[in-house]
Amino acid sequence: MTDSRTTRLLVVGAGPVGALAALYGAKRGWNVEVYELRGDLRDASTTPLNFTKSINLALSERGINALWNAGDDDLLGTILADTIPMHGRMIHGQDSHGGLTEESQQYDVHGRFLRAVDRANLNKTLLDAVDGLENVKLHFNHKLTGMDLRKQKAWFEQTAADKAQTADGAQADQAQKDDRSKELEVDFDLILGCDGAHSSVRYHMMKSVRMDYEQSYIDTLWCEFTIPAATQTSATTPTAREGFATSPNHLHIWPNEDRMFIAIPSIDKTFTCTLFAPSSHFASLEKTPADVAAFFDRNFPGAASLIGVDGVQQQFKDNFHLPLISIKCSPHHYLGCGVILGDAAHAMVPFYGQGMNAGLEDVRVLFQHLDSRSSTAGGRRDALDAYTRERVVDAHAINDLALANYWEMHSGVRSPLHLLRKSIEEF
Ligand code: FAD
Repeated sequence: MTDSRTTRLLVVGAGPVGALAALYGAKRGWNVEVYELRGDLRDASTTPLNFTKSINLALSERGINALWNAGDDDLLGTILADTIPMHGRMIHGQDSHGGLTEESQQYDVHGRFLRAVDRANLNKTLLDAVDGLENVKLHFNHKLTGMDLRKQKAWFEQTAADKAQTADGAQADQAQKDDRSKELEVDFDLILGCDGAHSSVRYHMMKSVRMDYEQSYIDTLWCEFTIPAATQTSATTPTAREGFATSPNHLHIWPNEDRMFIAIPSIDKTFTCTLFAPSSHFASLEKTPADVAAFFDRNFPGAASLIGVDGVQQQFKDNFHLPLISIKCSPHHYLGCGVILGDAAHAMVPFYGQGMNAGLEDVRVLFQHLDSRSSTAGGRRDALDAYTRERVVDAHAINDLALANYWEMHSGVRSPLHLLRKSIEEF
């Protein structure tokens, strides 16, 4: 049984996980407040996450199930309408005569598939679903600066971006000076830290919890590229169709030893691509940008011509070169009043395509535990305790699988062992 009148749910972070958690809380009649560091991502002026235009993600059963269980009849349909099925991976390579090759590897003998989704669109749809609900308040441009779990209070600071938007000229300067000392104090029954890999909630929680914490960076950076939609004159591959430069229903991989290039289809017929390579390659290409196209030709045959040879160099220069972090921690909660979810609890390298999916699943699992107990402090304490016991093991496992799949994707997909295993599966 839940007491809808008294439960004050405070969600920190309005990324995919925070927005979904707010919806789950709202559907239970709780009073939900969401505080997000950045501006509203539905405004064109807001700087997106990681400062890149967008990243395309693989949405899988795990994430779909969590969206389906949110209690909003339209949500899943709206999100899936803007996805593209990816039935398998397409491995790009070169034969012994230098000819370009494409090899399709189906994901599932039963025909199940992943869906390519635009992270920003998914996040916007989730925000639309909570915005306007009378028991939800969204506060953008608010940063969590402090938290006292024992007193069940959190403090937020309004960020400059919001202040600048609320006044103009000299008034804005004065408003910023006046407001700098002001912090907003918010009481809560339950705080959800959905504030990403560099979570402030986790940082403050560690002061009250004996939390084991492990963080590592792999020696691989990533950079986003775009393959434009096909035109009559642009390069395409034999599987190109419907205005896409190559097959729209695959996750494309150009594997090569310790580096790889991948491409995921977008509904505007472009592909959002990612170069993954050791930091030393990035460092040498930053010194000699003119070598970028040649680096692509040597390592990912055919990819540069799909992007456009000038585009490869320009995009490498313009787009950020970003690190990949892996985080494990335990427990994920404090008594009955605080819990971390999503990347805040288990940021992982992206090679298993499960970071966001696992974060969405956290929300479903957490509310399953909360629903099965009373909404008293004691009930919530039991629920969070059970949540950590279930979720930490799963989070660590998927974190390890994500690292293991790095080898599989950049090299294993074309190794003799893989081919042997594949031919046994096909037999
Ligand atoms: P985030 O998306 O990081 O959101 C956290 C939010 O909290 C942000 O909006 C931030 O502004 C806000 N915030 C931070 N600090 C504060 C504060 N102090 N106060 C208030 N708000 C704050 N996952 C998949 O499932 N499939 C994929 O195919 C996939 N591909 C990926 C490819 C790449 C290259 C990368 C880098 C990641 C990929 N992921 C993928 C992982 C996925 O992007 C993340 O797991 C997901 O975005 C995590 O969501 P989140 O809501 O937990 O955190």
